[in-house]
Amino acid sequence: MLIQGSQAASEVLERDRQRLLPVYARFPVVMERGEGVFLFDIDGNRYLDMMAGLGVNAVGHAHPRMVAAMVDQASKMVHLSPQYHNSNPGLLAERLCELSGMAGAFFSTGGSEAVEGALKLARTHGRQIGGREKHGIVALKGSYHGRTFGSMSVTGQEKYSADFGPGIPGIEFVERDNIEQLRAAVNAKTCAILMEPVLGEGGVHVCSPAFLAEARRLADQHRALLIFDEIQSGLGRTGRWFAFQASGVRPDVLILGKPLGGGLPLSALLVTDELFHSFGLAKHGSTLGGSPFACRLGLEFLAIMEKEKLLDRVKATGAHLSARLAHLVEEFEVCVEARGDGLLQGLELTIPARPIAEAALEQGVMLNVVQGNVVRFLCPLITEPEHIDKALDVLHDLLEARSE
Ligand code: PMP
Repeated sequence: MLIQGSQAASEVLERDRQRLLPVYARFPVVMERGEGVFLFDIDGNRYLDMMAGLGVNAVGHAHPRMVAAMVDQASKMVHLSPQYHNSNPGLLAERLCELSGMAGAFFSTGGSEAVEGALKLARTHGRQIGGREKHGIVALKGSYHGRTFGSMSVTGQEKYSADFGPGIPGIEFVERDNIEQLRAAVNAKTCAILMEPVLGEGGVHVCSPAFLAEARRLADQHRALLIFDEIQSGLGRTGRWFAFQASGVRPDVLILGKPLGGGLPLSALLVTDELFHSFGLAKHGSTLGGSPFACRLGLEFLAIMEKEKLLDRVKATGAHLSARLAHLVEEFEVCVEARGDGLLQGLELTIPARPIAEAALEQGVMLNVVQGNVVRFLCPLITEPEHIDKALDVLHDLLEARSE
């Protein structure tokens, strides 16, 4: 790609090439700071952020309230052994329970770690009610749940585990929205059905309400837990606090992450009343999980969401994005389908999307690509329709140039 940075930028790129393990296809730009929906590289170039740090920077970069909360909390306490009390984790748990209808929380660091916790919870709960045999987990083909061993094992995409298997045993995958397959897979040995109500990394696919409802019914019938991984779809991204609220189907376990800590590593496992005591004393833990610092930022993030009425804004901006993407599908043959909800949307192409993302970056727009051919919009929740217009104008022109 063409971006030619300064000498200072080249030095960073070169050092990273030598010292950071090459697991990411990084774009050759060195970002230095952010402000709202914009990022600036070390040469002062400005970029419109349509991916929010992979769904993390929900209230944009350097939000003044977030910064003030960080400074204030840092001056009091950053970390505390989880064997002591601090008011922030409990306050955050209380707020998340109010919003989700769940009863209690366990905090950890990244999303994968919370998925691990959910898998352990499902296994121990299964054992408590049905013995060792009740350990099967049904998950979705095309899903993504993380990179640790357990979370990788329940991820329904071969490419993530092919080099590392065998993963944990007892996992069966079914197609999204295939009710017959789901019925055939769930039985007395199933301890959990795990799904993303909106599959994000899989290319942005929304599960049908009927499929979620059937999962709920089967989970009840077989005394399995219904676990929703809303690490990507939760916390306002779809214009509701949680994507599952669109279907009315409630999970037994809800997994959150990404924006929860306002950019600090923070994830949560929320459970119903019945599961509150499923993890006995010392059965689970996380040294860095749910720190006073991360939880304070979580509280601030939720407060900003409410104060700035961001759910409403996501609905409005999301509707604008859908309309603009639908136009692209009408206009260009290479655009197969636009789908998603709120500010989690995907545009599927017949051609590789990476070159388009690279070209967009050169024009100051950061686009994200999944599955090779899907442009995924994971915009900051503060994004305005005018920002969508700027990004979509650039995308439109790039598609036009490629179709000529
Ligand atoms: N589950 C889902 C639905 C995700 O989107 C992700 C991250 N993309 C994860 C789990 C893993 O989260 P993390 O990368 O923070 O471990």
